[in-house]
Amino acid sequence: MAKIQMKTPLVEMDGDEMTRVLWKWIKDILLTPYVDLKTEYYDLGLEYREKTKDQVTVDSANATKKYGVAVKCATITPNAARMPEYNLSQMWKSPNGTIRAILDGTVFRTPILVKGVEPYIPTWTAPITIARHAYGDVYKNTEMKVKQGSKAELVVTDAEGNESRELIFNFEDTDGIIQGLHNKNNSIAGFARACFNYGLDLHQDVWFATKDTISKKYDHTFKDIFQEIYDNEYKEKFEAAGIEYFYTLIDDAVARVIRSHGGYIWACKNYDGDVMSDMVSTAYGSLAMMTSVLVSPDGIYEYEAAHGTVQRHYYKYLKGEETSTNSVATIFAWSGALRKRGEMDNLPELIAFADKLEKATIQTIEDGVMTGDLYLISKLENKKKVNSKEFLEAINERLVKLMA
Ligand code: NAD
Repeated sequence: MAKIQMKTPLVEMDGDEMTRVLWKWIKDILLTPYVDLKTEYYDLGLEYREKTKDQVTVDSANATKKYGVAVKCATITPNAARMPEYNLSQMWKSPNGTIRAILDGTVFRTPILVKGVEPYIPTWTAPITIARHAYGDVYKNTEMKVKQGSKAELVVTDAEGNESRELIFNFEDTDGIIQGLHNKNNSIAGFARACFNYGLDLHQDVWFATKDTISKKYDHTFKDIFQEIYDNEYKEKFEAAGIEYFYTLIDDAVARVIRSHGGYIWACKNYDGDVMSDMVSTAYGSLAMMTSVLVSPDGIYEYEAAHGTVQRHYYKYLKGEETSTNSVATIFAWSGALRKRGEMDNLPELIAFADKLEKATIQTIEDGVMTGDLYLISKLENKKKVNSKEFLEAINERLVKLMA
């Protein structure tokens, strides 16, 4: 059988620990036998980041800008314990943070649903995708503790040097705390466009919610920018696609999400997205079944698993012990990236391969063959726990048939 050809290379970002081990196995067992894989390879493993003083991370992000699609393995974000472990000269920043800053994107997280692993919310029969605005608000705040007798004010100095002031609070009878937040209209607009584009991509409604009734300038600006961009740039496309943009208050949104069947994109402000993505991923069953894609406002895509490097399994693997690590989200990162490459380069065979790879993966689990994390939560009766490699081989048995 001739291998499927690609036109433009995918940007491949290798990573760390157990996910690095899975990365190679996925390529060897599930990808290279079928696809003449064309990638531009960047080693984002911590050793090579140290060796290049983290330049490799910047280079990989710039290559993603050039080619348009990347697939990334989970990477270590160094903490104090990693300094001696990897003999680091610096506590390098999170690669995801660096890449996100260069691509200026929004992160979309979507759960992968399989029969047998029931969500804690039984009505959630379709996935809910969370889009988190990854700039500003409480994550770039300035805060102070304030002594009794102090008066706190907001002061803004404009380009001509004129000051405008608003009283925050008069701390007459007690000590207290204050916090200054900001966001940027162009960042909010980029977030809105990324969400609307992704809605069109997935053919799904986009929901957005803030607390604009209480925050009449800050949150209301988010609401206004979304509405303006929707009306001017997306309304017609959404109507043609038969999908909707829906705005509501955040408390109403939470109530509707719980009652919903899923199947939409929920755009969240930075803090809401931080909190709600953990709630949603837990409710769907497993972090190892969550994909993540960074989409830039100008249409650049970077796919990855939402989980980390599965450090505990890696130490077992190093000792020669058997591991049963779930590779599903990493496989879906590859299938997502290959499908997007296929769409951009007009390669129907590559798109069909991505679909079959996902189908074979889901079939394997629904046939009862699964890794330890799913074995613990699956309600299937005839289920069997397999090790990391056996799981990939079981997927391949099904993929071979789908490709025949
Ligand atoms: P983790 O996601 O690796 O693990 C969290 C928990 O979930 C662990 O109990 C783990 O065993 C389990 N788990 C996660 N994925 C699994 C899988 N595929 N199969 C089976 N079980 C799975 O997160 P962590 O332990 O907090 O961090 C480990 C390392 O990963 C850290 O160095 C951190 O910096 C890094 N990290 C990277 C990313 C990324 O690159 N996107 C994200 C999160 C954490």
